[in-house]
Amino acid sequence: SSELERVSGLIREVEDFPQPGVLFRDLSPLLADAEGFRVVVEEMAAHGTEADVDVVVGIEARGFLLGAAVALRLGLGVVGVRKPGKLPAVAHRVDYALEYGTATLELPEGTLRRGARALVVDDVLATGGTVEAACSLVEHAEAEVSAVSVVMELAALNGRRRLAGRKVRSLLTV
Ligand code: 5GP
Repeated sequence: SSELERVSGLIREVEDFPQPGVLFRDLSPLLADAEGFRVVVEEMAAHGTEADVDVVVGIEARGFLLGAAVALRLGLGVVGVRKPGKLPAVAHRVDYALEYGTATLELPEGTLRRGARALVVDDVLATGGTVEAACSLVEHAEAEVSAVSVVMELAALNGRRRLAGRKVRSLLTV
């Protein structure tokens, strides 16, 4: 949308973060802007409506900011999938490979009912490893990933290919 185009200028590009050679897209100024935040949340909520979801799953940490707002907009609950060691009761855990090393995500106990239709939300889709791990957590709980919604997709990293077969929507592709 033209609204989206207007606010996309609020995304900052930071060179050499978190490692030399990486161009990091910093969405913080976009989320800090009232209009930017509203536009992004409404567009992501539209993905959720289209996919007929009944719960929102946000990925730590920036997916929490977006997921909570999207869930409230849709009149749904929100589930945060977390990095290890934060949850008092873990329903499921997934280890996954990063470019260097591994990472872990955990799903809190008592959150996703069997058969729930989840919208998985994050800020950026890069290689897709993180979103894929969140999707497997949802599926370990015998719930369904009805759609994945991200603000920005880094097309060169082929995350969409890794998520083949899933309904992936991004607001902006670079
Ligand atoms: P993945 O490679 O698994 O798709 O991305 C790893 C995690 O790092 C995801 O949670 C993703 O949101 C984040 N990430 C990767 N690249 C960027 C980036 O350029 N900007 C932001 N804000 N997050 C990123």
